[in-house]
Parts: sequence; structure tokens; C-alpha cells
Amino acid sequence: MTDQRAAQFARCAVALGAELGDAPNGGAVAADPGKGPNPFADPAPTGADPFAPSMAGREGIFDMALSNGLAAIVAYEWPGEDMNRSGRVLPASALLQVIEDKLTASDGVVLIPDKHQVSEIPQGGTDSIFQTPRLSSATRIDLGTLRDGIDQSQAARHGRGAGGLQRRHIEALLDLDGHESLQTMGEHQSDRIRDTALQEDATSRVRASAYLERIGEEEAARRAECVDNPNAYHPKRNPDGHDLDTCPVCGYETFCVEGIAPIAGRVGHGQCLVCTYSRSPDMADEEGFAEHIAWIMGK
Ligand SMILES: [Zn+2]
Repeated sequence: MTDQRAAQFARCAVALGAELGDAPNGGAVAADPGKGPNPFADPAPTGADPFAPSMAGREGIFDMALSNGLAAIVAYEWPGEDMNRSGRVLPASALLQVIEDKLTASDGVVLIPDKHQVSEIPQGGTDSIFQTPRLSSATRIDLGTLRDGIDQSQAARHGRGAGGLQRRHIEALLDLDGHESLQTMGEHQSDRIRDTALQEDATSRVRASAYLERIGEEEAARRAECVDNPNAYHPKRNPDGHDLDTCPVCGYETFCVEGIAPIAGRVGHGQCLVCTYSRSPDMADEEGFAEHIAWIMGK
């Protein structure tokens, strides 16, 4: 669970951090005095967002990164306190309260000391946003700024105004990465899940192509013609069903969607009823996330 959280945190934080780095120096409104132009000044995406509401725009990514990051930190520092009595993970605001209750804040900032002294922080690729050296052996949690970030993103996500996320919110979010529960595995773990998903997908495509070749074009066309969707949507009998999707390997509309990516919520996972190509939930997430980021950045 913690691994998954760290991976989600890293994935979202990398996306937001990359946008921070790419932000043009002119044009945007300098809404954050002393911090330069605000790269997040564009209005938040609203109802036109074709993606799942849980991922709507930068605010959705900020929320996801913050919720996962804080949950991993609290679970690591104070096991069990990341959940309520019925076992549900607390929302980000409540997790911040847990941290504030445990440690003394000074000017709205708490420092979580490292449990283990780390002599060298593992570093990612050359473009990694996590390469900023840590000056102390503690993780800085800027409660005030993060709470404000939650308010801003909630307002935007519920249609009460434009996205108010600013550079300082993202910087406060990236500060979390210094924590032991995230730094040691976050980026790494995210890469690992991604690599495995990509590898499995490539294997599945090769196998499907070989199968397609074996049965021949005519037979494939015949099968596509009489395919029956075993997971067809029906309001009563199968409310969780889906329409058949186009298969990326054989090109027929015979991809049986078993479900939608759990996180990025756009791309379906399942199997093609003609060529047998199968897309895993992790791969669906990977594709959905990439599409989502591309959509946000292209706005
Ligand atoms: Zn296919």
C-alpha cells in the first residue's frame, strides 16, 4: 500500500514539477509576489474535461499527490493513524491535522526528523526534479501552504472559481518527497511499476500479432463479425459493463473492457476477443495518465 502511494505521489509530483520547470518567465500573471510568474494562472479545466472527475486538471493531480504523499508519511511515522475507525484512509486535510497534533509547528511549519541518517540521497535521472540536495535531515511540512493548496484546488474542482494553485503550493508539495517513506522508493517504485506494465504490454502485443497471423485475415474478420460482448452494459443485469473498444493490435472493435484504469480513469483494461491482446490495469493507468498530462499541458 505504501509503495503504491509513494508511486502515485512521485508520478503526480513529477508531472507538476515538470510544469513548474517549463513555466515561461513572461506572460503569466505574477500572482505570488516574490516568487515570479504563476505558471498555474490558467483557469482550471471544468466540465469539458473528458477525464474522470477525480483527475480533473492540475488540481486533481495536486490532490492526488498530496493525499498519497501524506498518507505514506503518516502511515510510516505513526502506523494506523492514516486511517479512521472504519479503515478508510483519511483525507489530506485530516492527515495534516494528525501531523500537526504530533509535532510542534513553528510559523505553520513542522519538521519531521529522519529516523535513519541517510548519508546520500538517492538521485534519479539528470532531469529529475528531486535532485535538489536536502540541507537537513528532516522533512519540511508547510501546513499553512498545503492547507491553502487544498482549499484552492477544492474550489477549482467544485467549480467555484479558477484554479488558484501557485508555485508555492507545488514547492510545498515537493518538499514532502524528502521523507523516508517517499524518497527511498517513490520515483524508483513508480518507474518499476511502469517498466513492468510496458514490458507486459509489449509481450502481449507480440503474442497477439503472432496469433493474428496464425488464424489469418479472413478468419479474424469472420470472428470480428460475430463477436458478442460478454461485458456489455445493461442498466439492471450489468451496470458495470462497457462497450467494446477498438483493439490497438488488430484494429477491430472487439476489445472487451473489463474495467477503467483505477487511477487515471480513461483507458480501459481487458482483452481483445479476436487477437487476444490484453491490457493490464497498470498499463491502462499508464496510458490514461499520459493522455491526461498531454491534455493538461496542451491547454
Ligand atoms: Zn485485437
